[in-house]
Amino acid sequence: MRGHEGSPRSDGERPDLGEPARRDRLGESTRAVHLPDPPRVPQSTLSAPVYRAAAFAFSSGQEFADVLADPALGYSYGRVDNPTVDAFAAAVAHLEGAGVPGAVAGQAFASGAAAVHGALVPFLAAGAHLVAPTAMYGTTLELFRSLFGRFGVRVDLVDFTETAAVAAAVRDGTAVVYAETLVNPTMAVADLPALAAIAHDAGALLVVDSTFASPVVCRPLEHGADVVLHSATKYLGGHSDATGGVVVARPELVARIRADRILTGAMLAPDEAFLLRRGIETLPLRVDRACASALALARAVAGHPNVLRVDYPGLPSHPGHALAGRLFDRGPAGATRYGACLTITPRGGHAAGLALCDNLRIALVASSLGGTHTKVSHAATTTHRQLDAADLDAAGIDPGAVRFSVGLEDPDDLVADVVQALDALG
Ligand code: PLP
Repeated sequence: MRGHEGSPRSDGERPDLGEPARRDRLGESTRAVHLPDPPRVPQSTLSAPVYRAAAFAFSSGQEFADVLADPALGYSYGRVDNPTVDAFAAAVAHLEGAGVPGAVAGQAFASGAAAVHGALVPFLAAGAHLVAPTAMYGTTLELFRSLFGRFGVRVDLVDFTETAAVAAAVRDGTAVVYAETLVNPTMAVADLPALAAIAHDAGALLVVDSTFASPVVCRPLEHGADVVLHSATKYLGGHSDATGGVVVARPELVARIRADRILTGAMLAPDEAFLLRRGIETLPLRVDRACASALALARAVAGHPNVLRVDYPGLPSHPGHALAGRLFDRGPAGATRYGACLTITPRGGHAAGLALCDNLRIALVASSLGGTHTKVSHAATTTHRQLDAADLDAAGIDPGAVRFSVGLEDPDDLVADVVQALDALG
């Protein structure tokens, strides 16, 4: 009944429902369900077509069996694979793998949190050993301590700014060393080559969450990482309108990641994949601009009398400044891009941090990061609310710290807004 094997359809071509006489005898519901196939377009499109397909149809029972057995032959089911989702994952692999010898493939996920889980689960089992930083995204910390812990994964949390501490924690049987390229909110920079050497010496994989860097600022595969993941909700999508995650790695690792992703059902939706892939087309422009504005903001407020501390690797005072200069990409202007997030800690602790948020007029108190708008969040009550006073102290986070995700506003407007908000603290 279907015209799948046919050549491209011209506009108005009818589906193959048999001879006209027979077609007329079909009931209205049958005819309504069996609509003409959409046109097959011989030209390529600049945007990725959205395949809103939970199911696919086959020309024979054998074809269905063949596609299930070999994904290279096509698409079988919405949770398993989707062409729009594949287009997005391939786009990220293309960017992250730009300077890497050998093939890089990708798998997309329903969220960044699903990507963290999906990047690790294939390489862990009960009794496996995972080494991770004490300072990392709170939900990831919970995943490791709570969920992975329940399944018998042994997790050691160490200070990743001391690579000797990581080397001491790794042992025979360590499966994964896990890092974040840039750590929220201290903006600590991971020494990726050193971490890769430590992991590989122990026969472990280095898995890196590079959400805060984006492939514009740093491509961890070029520095020895085995697996790189992103919350695509942030810079890749870039417009605060789509939730997703993505993992890229060598194809043999990605095959294992895909197999477990199918079992857990953490599939990205095709509409989200369309938006996330579209966002990538402007990623370098957006990130380049936001990094320049973040540097301007950091410099402008570093000496403000009401500021206790500014955490930004672009400032020579930041402990990760030299490392960032070695690992992070130089933009078209030849200057290192240090990321587009910074943390401003006003004097006066918790209350001053909240007051700084409230005094802002252009920067928004808003969740997430990496969008067109500048967003702020008071770390102790939002992103790091799970940490008590001792935990905050151990992680180097002042109770007043405010994380800024710098957006695309005119930098002068943004700097003026933050300066007036700091002035108003009195
Ligand atoms: N990784 C990092 C560094 C994040 O900041 C976040 C979210 O803020 C995630 C992962 C999780 O991403 P998502 O919110 O898309 O699930």
